Amino acid sequence: MKDCIFCKIIAGEIPSWKIYEDDLVYAFMDIGPINFGHTLVIPKEHHTSTATIPEATAGRMFRVGARIGVAQKRALDADAFNLHLADGTCAGQVVMHAHLHVVPRNADDTFHWNWRQLKYDTPEVAGELAEKLRNALKLEPQD
Ligand code: AMP
Ligand code: ZN
Repeated sequence: MKDCIFCKIIAGEIPSWKIYEDDLVYAFMDIGPINFGHTLVIPKEHHTSTATIPEATAGRMFRVGARIGVAQKRALDADAFNLHLADGTCAGQVVMHAHLHVVPRNADDTFHWNWRQLKYDTPEVAGELAEKLRNALKLEPQD
């Protein structure tokens, strides 16, 4: 897609530190890493949202992301890795070409996600919300 920075990276119009490429996905190091070696896995086809990526490509993104995480452990002596994905601006998506972050982690890296844990008022409230979600989920294989 014209004017998409990640499409330009795939096309070789903008340089990148490539980690992996196949027919469906491209992976390269993030220019502003949380930790050094932080890598992005992107579909070669332009999709703004992860939700429209075909199943084969989405599966490949996840598999390649996990394997890059293992490579980070081997090559960088990382203890672990995070897979992270922001879908939509208020979720933190800045580049509007869907991408999976693979972040190498060490016990002493001082990075925190600031994860919070709210509490449902009652089990019934949680149950009603689960039903609402099930009703909204129109999921067919290969969609
Ligand atoms: P997000 O906030 O999830 O949209 O993440 C976008 C990521 O893309 C950020 O972590 C940026 O550092 C990264 N990024 C932006 N431009 C480039 C680039 N030219 N090469 C590599 N990474 C980039
Ligand atoms: Zn794009």
